[in-house]
Amino acid sequence: MRRPALLFALFAVTLAAPALAAPVPPAALAAQGDPRMGPLPVFEFHSGFWVNLHHFLYQQARERRDPGASKAAPAALPGFTQDEQRAWEAAVAFYAANYADKDLLFNSDLTALKNQLGDFEDCPELSGASRKECNAGLPGKITPVLNRAAPVYRAHWWPEQDRANRRWVAAVAPLIREKGLDLAQRLAEIYQSRWPREKIRVEVTLYASSPGAYTTLDPLRLTISSSDPRNQGQAALEMLFHEASHGLAGPVQEAIVRECRQRGKAIPRDLWHALLFYTTGEAVKSAMAAAQAAPAPEAEPAPGRPLPGMPLPESAAKPAYVPYAVREGLYARGWSGFQRLLETYWQPYLEGRASFDDAIARMVSAL
Ligand SMILES: [Zn+2]
Repeated sequence: MRRPALLFALFAVTLAAPALAAPVPPAALAAQGDPRMGPLPVFEFHSGFWVNLHHFLYQQARERRDPGASKAAPAALPGFTQDEQRAWEAAVAFYAANYADKDLLFNSDLTALKNQLGDFEDCPELSGASRKECNAGLPGKITPVLNRAAPVYRAHWWPEQDRANRRWVAAVAPLIREKGLDLAQRLAEIYQSRWPREKIRVEVTLYASSPGAYTTLDPLRLTISSSDPRNQGQAALEMLFHEASHGLAGPVQEAIVRECRQRGKAIPRDLWHALLFYTTGEAVKSAMAAAQAAPAPEAEPAPGRPLPGMPLPESAAKPAYVPYAVREGLYARGWSGFQRLLETYWQPYLEGRASFDDAIARMVSAL
């Protein structure tokens, strides 16, 4: 999803305030929310300079390539010197020629590059000219392109984008602290899989592909947009766990394929993914409902208030969490058949009334 309005807003902020000359802070977010509370469970968040620059250039190159985009020479960027403008244009042109037609998730060159840029996030440049260990060994001719674009990005965009990423992490941190371990355990049980022992690395970027987040495997790494409206508030928690669940989906995918083969049925391409959305959505909804029903730790119930653990009267209850797939209309846009199957045959498994194998078998036989 493109958000020219947001980019314009960021740009305007950058112009209004003089570019910050402060050194870029280390990308791994040591504080991970509130430094007084120690590191977060489950996830390790990074607001990495190079990964952010990479996604920002990719996004700008994609916008230029879009059918509606102007074919005129790019307008002068206000506040940029000629050298800055030239370096930036060269980088966008390089991305347009080499990457804009490739998919961030499905193209192996792009996934490898994204991982390398994450690994070198603390380096001021990527050729090794500053420190030997900063020779990132990137493929092709991209190293000088990024090295020349870096000071421009650092001067005009990065401070504000980095702050936006850190604000996003700070906002979701309390939910992860409160719900993260339970959700991880619950999802691993559901998928009959093992949650990764190491914390899952999350690259927080302003832009992260059109769905607003994507996950690459081996190693399992998430990239999530801090600015995407679909990833805000409680939805941030669901998006993180949905993406992380891509690393657990193997047994579900295999079981669906096995059942289809046994029954001589075509394998439905997206059933496993609809199942992931459904499952994470229900798990987060339950976790939120439990939080709402639970009494505040030391609060005495006020006169006339329900006793701890009692459901709140309808008027006082906050509306239940609406899962992503419902809110964003995924079922309505072609997955309504899957939604019915999941509600009928998968939900009983989530409630402990059916086995994993039976649930999958029934879903597939009803296809
Ligand atoms: Zn997904």
